[in-house]
Amino acid sequence: MPDRRAGGPAPAERLVDEFALVDELIDGDAEAWDLAGEIPVEVLRTAGRRGLLSAQVARELGGLGLSSRENGELTAYAGSVCSSFRSVMTSQGMAAWTIQRLANPDQSAALLPELVSGRLAAVGFSETGAGSDVTAMTTKIEVSGDSVVVSGHKVWVTGAHYADLLIVFGQCEGGAAVVVVPASAPGVHVERVADPLGCRAAGHANVRLDSVRLPLGSLLGSPGMPLPLLVTTALAYGRISVAWGCVGILRACRSVSARHAASRIQFGKPLHEHQLVAGHLAELYVSEQIAAQACAHASECWDAGSLDLVMATVLAKHVSAGHAARGAATAVQVLASAGARDGHVVARAYRDAKLMEIIEGSNEICQLILAQHAVAAAP
Ligand SMILES: Cc1cc2nc3c(=O)[nH]c(=O)nc-3n(C[C@H](O)[C@H](O)[C@H](O)COP(=O)(O)OP(=O)(O)OC[C@H]3O[C@@H](n4cnc5c(N)ncnc54)[C@H](O)[C@@H]3O)c2cc1C
Repeated sequence: MPDRRAGGPAPAERLVDEFALVDELIDGDAEAWDLAGEIPVEVLRTAGRRGLLSAQVARELGGLGLSSRENGELTAYAGSVCSSFRSVMTSQGMAAWTIQRLANPDQSAALLPELVSGRLAAVGFSETGAGSDVTAMTTKIEVSGDSVVVSGHKVWVTGAHYADLLIVFGQCEGGAAVVVVPASAPGVHVERVADPLGCRAAGHANVRLDSVRLPLGSLLGSPGMPLPLLVTTALAYGRISVAWGCVGILRACRSVSARHAASRIQFGKPLHEHQLVAGHLAELYVSEQIAAQACAHASECWDAGSLDLVMATVLAKHVSAGHAARGAATAVQVLASAGARDGHVVARAYRDAKLMEIIEGSNEICQLILAQHAVAAAP
């Protein structure tokens, strides 16, 4: 099978099969999926069954048991080929991580194997009035006898169009709670977000929950926990995953731009021999390296259980998303009309990367967190 990876370090030996599986499943269809706004759900179920979508789930539970560093390289690889597919990986991985952190052992033993056997999950925090400010969420989770009742309206939930399970955050008993809602439960209404700017096949959807009554065991952890703690738990995974996805975008953009600049002749010589174009290629290479280093550091903190993880993750997400958005714009500039076509790899990267500056903590929210850290860390 040809190595379609767009550059980057050699994969760890044990990831060769996983990279090949990504290639086999996407099979050159990223552009078609982007244009259609849909990934065939059976492709996603197969990816889930083969462990790709939540690759850090332990082997004893049927997962691949990858480290964060390994999963990062896998995520970057998928992100270099198809950001929509990578977005679904991020959501499913975030769902698995949230369950792993908050569920009791019985719930984990029941739910995690589902996520590696083809069932798909998505995570909902955002609401119309609660975007950057998640504390403004109004979704209610009420404990009533041996049931729990969920009412609210989540927006822009990645992968919800495909999901069997929705991990929903809401206000509960003076604090917050997280509940696992089957998408087929009475009172759940899922409606696609029409024409998203990027990651068009990632299945973004708005989810209305009309007094959805579930068994009490659907609640993860105890009711009344601090909302920021719950959200930060889930976002730790989401941020690192998005950041690695951005490394993939940068690898694809650098690779495609370099090939184009070497083969396209203008003014009697290849584009890369024109110094202003060479400058673009250098910028892309620097962006890719910086983003990859920031992500590797965050993953190493994750794997070491370091207390630096939260800040390293915010830093990796902020740095990688910014570089990916600027790098994708640079790649479109290098290809010019050759890349200025909907669905083309750099055109997709341009739209997809811009959204990475919004999700899992926008640029500004990341900056606020980093600034607080800078002040707190000042001698
Ligand atoms: C592609 C995509 C996928 C998504 N996937 C999910 C998902 O799976 N699950 C989910 O729950 N949500 C998801 N979201 C929603 C996402 O979390 C929110 O879009 C994000 O939190 C920003 O909220 P908002 O769009 O309401 O913008 P707003 O919060 O209205 O912000 C608008 C602008 O103001 C800035 N701003 C806001 N507050 C401040 C401040 N205090 N200081 C400085 N600047 C500020 C923001 O940075 C932004 O630039 C997704 C969104 C997108 C676009």
